[in-house]
Amino acid sequence: MSTSNQTPSDLTQVDVTQIDVAGVKELLTQKKGRMKACLSACAGCSLCAESCFLFMGKDQDPRYMPSFKVINSLGTLYRKRGKLSQAQWEEARELVFKNCALCGRCYCPFGIDIPNMISFARTILREQGLCGIFPHSMGAPDDDYKPPLPAEDEAPQTEDTE
Ligand code: SF4
Ligand code: SF4
Repeated sequence: MSTSNQTPSDLTQVDVTQIDVAGVKELLTQKKGRMKACLSACAGCSLCAESCFLFMGKDQDPRYMPSFKVINSLGTLYRKRGKLSQAQWEEARELVFKNCALCGRCYCPFGIDIPNMISFARTILREQGLCGIFPHSMGAPDDDYKPPLPAEDEAPQTEDTE
C-alpha cells in the first residue's frame, strides 16, 4: 500500500517524490507475464480505434486510440519499471482516467483485452493516490469539467471584519 499523501482530487502536478516505486513494481510483477505478452502482441494496426466511441467522438484524436492509451500508460509503466517522470505519470493519469471510460466496447481482432489493461493501469495509479473524475470523458465538452468544490467544513475561512 502506498504511503502517498496525494489526494484523489489532486488533478494538478504529480509529485514524484510521493510515488512508492517499490509498490508500483510489486503490482507490475503480479501480472507481468500476461500484460507484457499483450503489450508485445499489439501490432499497432489501429483496427481497435473505430470501436472506441471516445476516439470517434473526439475527431479521431490519436490520444483517444485504445492502443495508444494502453501503450503510453501501462506500457510506459513496464518499460520504465515503475520509475516514471512527472510528465509520464501525468500522461498516464490523463490517458487512463480522462481518455477512457472503461466501457469495454473496444475490439481487437488479435484478442488483446484493452479495457482489462487500462483497468490494471488505473489500479496502479490509484494505489499512488492518482486518479480523476472527468465528465468530459463521457462525451461532454472539455469546458464542462470543473474541479470538485471543497466540502463545506474545508472551505477557506474569511475574517469577520465587523
Ligand atoms: S490492440 Fe489490437 S487492434 Fe488495437 S492496435 Fe493493437 S493489435 Fe491492433
Ligand atoms: S474501454 Fe476505453 S478504449 Fe475501450 S472503447 Fe471504451 S473508452 Fe474506448
